[in-house]
Amino acid sequence: MNNNSKVLALKYRPQTFDDLIGQEVVAETITNSIKANKIPNAYLFTGIRGIGKTTTARIVAKALNCSNGIENKCKIKCDNCDAITNSNHIDVLEMDAASKTGVDDVRDLIEFSRYGPTSAKYKIFIIDEVHMLSKQAFNALLKTLEEPPEYLKFIFATTEIKKIPITVVSRCQRFDLSRIKSSELLEYIKLIKDKENGKITEDALKLIVKISEGSVRDALSLLDRALLSLDDGKELDLNSAQKIFGYFDKSQLIDLFELILKGEETKVINIYRKIYDQGVEPKVFINDFLELLYYFKNINSLTLESTNFSLNDEEFSKIKNLSNQIDSEVLILFWQFAISSLEEIDIVSNQHLSIEMFLIRLMHLSSVKSKNKVEKVEIDLKSENLVNNKETELTPKTINQIKNVAQEEKTKPEVQTDIKGEKKININAFEDLIEICSKKKEIKLKYELEKNVNLVKFEKNRIEISFNESLDKDFVKDLSSKLFEWTDERWIITFSKLKGQMSVKDKEKNEKKQLIDEMKNSEIFKSVIDRFPDAELIDVNSKKDGADND
Ligand SMILES: [Zn+2]
Repeated sequence: MNNNSKVLALKYRPQTFDDLIGQEVVAETITNSIKANKIPNAYLFTGIRGIGKTTTARIVAKALNCSNGIENKCKIKCDNCDAITNSNHIDVLEMDAASKTGVDDVRDLIEFSRYGPTSAKYKIFIIDEVHMLSKQAFNALLKTLEEPPEYLKFIFATTEIKKIPITVVSRCQRFDLSRIKSSELLEYIKLIKDKENGKITEDALKLIVKISEGSVRDALSLLDRALLSLDDGKELDLNSAQKIFGYFDKSQLIDLFELILKGEETKVINIYRKIYDQGVEPKVFINDFLELLYYFKNINSLTLESTNFSLNDEEFSKIKNLSNQIDSEVLILFWQFAISSLEEIDIVSNQHLSIEMFLIRLMHLSSVKSKNKVEKVEIDLKSENLVNNKETELTPKTINQIKNVAQEEKTKPEVQTDIKGEKKININAFEDLIEICSKKKEIKLKYELEKNVNLVKFEKNRIEISFNESLDKDFVKDLSSKLFEWTDERWIITFSKLKGQMSVKDKEKNEKKQLIDEMKNSEIFKSVIDRFPDAELIDVNSKKDGADND
């Protein structure tokens, strides 16, 4: 078991080029240039976080300053290398630009460089997160960088190369450290697991590799967590690892996806709730859903290995089979909708409900007609959760702050008194609602209500609807907020699985068609047709009352 209190990332920090995994080319290039005595004035290492940039910087410093020279470097430990490892070498100065960004910091550094090294061959500045330096600091640095003394070397590390002035970049030898390959990272953490005498299954280790996305540091800290949570004598398997890391079984997600396409609403919601109960964060869920969409779209150009162990063989072939039956357009539509749901998720206070809505809307989007089951799945979107503060800038932060009614009312005292001063409006029917929208010039709402909403049930303070895929995503939010403003009461807008009435617009269209058909059968029309055989009935204008019997 892991008795050492040191975290794995520190304990197994690579000390020489040989320890470094995945960066063989970089190691070889640098070693050869030192051997050939063609050492650049400055090295620049870029790459994602946790990939070993600072570690590489220190290894380079050792390669430059090792008492045994580059050919024999530290087969036997030397004072220089030891001191660099412990960050207390008198000639090697490390600076984190994230905390020291100013021109004064750089001036100190340059002042320090005016004298030659004390105990080693080179004076070396390692600047981590160098892109964080201020413009003035870069300018100060540039002067030294242009014509440094022989004994002075710079080593920079950054995650954001684009933020570094080109004048600086052009004076460095640049190395892009690549992501560690999945298989390589797997071998590496397997080795460390064995050194730590940990019992973890290969599948669980693969999950660690997947989550860490090529970052050695992340992989090691996940391994740390896994080792710490081991029960005595028990082996950690994929299932437990998923729980520890908040990840869930991809096959569940594939099943879910299949059911969405079939329009099996109840089953979809049940599976999602199971996933939710496993402690999966809504954002993680949508991200994984996106990943799955990507696989469905591109599975034919992928190999099992190129999925970073995200899928096992069984899942891989299941996706491959299913993908043939799915229209690309549906996948792209799902993708767009998932992305926008990801953005929306910060706005609502109950993210869990919002994911259920997301799934239900996917089923509508894919226009898969659900079976004739009249069983109803009802999601109460509590209107207060979605009420929008129109008066202030809608940053996610402010929205989070007005999650509940009490707070929201406090922030809008003026609106409150305004409403109280006005006569309260009674809305007793769907038609009333549409009429009020048009009176209040809420044209967008009126349009949505008439075009994209099918009324299922209208009660006092409660409206149950179904909708088509064109419904605006802010509809519920907007309607709830307007209803509150007009009636001074909270309304609950509920989505139903029931089909509901025809939309108002469709109803009108239908009535008109009926009217035209009736007219075509009428005696008057027949006599017209007799006289003008080419005539065509295009429109009928009915009088508002009793039009049917004319
Ligand atoms: Zn050494």
